[in-house]
Amino acid sequence: MSSAVPRGETPAPPVGTPRLTVLSGPSGVGKSTVVAHLRKAHPEVWLSVSATTRRPRPGEQHGVQYFFVDDEEFDKLIANGELLEWAQFAGNRYGTPRRAVLEHLERGEPVLLEIDLQGARLVREAMPEARLVFLAPPSWEELVRRLTGRGTEAPDVVERRLEAARTELAAEEEFDTTLVNTSVEEVSAELLALMSID
Ligand code: 5GP
Repeated sequence: MSSAVPRGETPAPPVGTPRLTVLSGPSGVGKSTVVAHLRKAHPEVWLSVSATTRRPRPGEQHGVQYFFVDDEEFDKLIANGELLEWAQFAGNRYGTPRRAVLEHLERGEPVLLEIDLQGARLVREAMPEARLVFLAPPSWEELVRRLTGRGTEAPDVVERRLEAARTELAAEEEFDTTLVNTSVEEVSAELLALMSID
């Protein structure tokens, strides 16, 4: 059974231009898990690596999950216009390096961004042809369970993320499509279908 809820069409990209897909949704909903699953089967999907001022979690590597930078370096990225979008999230800054995204799109490769709600809105302004996909939790209780159960954040950080999640859930209607994260396999397949990759 499909959990995709189509909600009107975004403008079609110019012929021959692959579409940029943005996956967003509350922290803890499982965006990274879905993306990792998708890319295992489809490594041709290029995932943008964001810059962040957040500290690496155990096991995270510079240049793989994120480019981990300090505040000064992040300021420079902004000042030099190197970010397609950036946002402050739960006390840290996150941004999408612009050049790599444009290069991959020009090469005709499918491009995926996994970013927060504010970033998704900014991408929509900068690139109206982008398809915005909202990943929703099966329920609020399930989201709380996932966020608290992750065990990687201090209680006050979890609380900030839950607060952000309340706002983010309310923004679902702004997205082109909603996918409900009931199963990683199903949602990955639905996301692939939206990106027109079999
Ligand atoms: P985390 O700290 O859990 O890795 O990420 C926190 C939030 O920041 C997630 O919702 C994630 O999707 C979002 N995020 C990651 N990279 C970017 C980015 O480049 N821009 C924006 N706006 N949000 C991002």
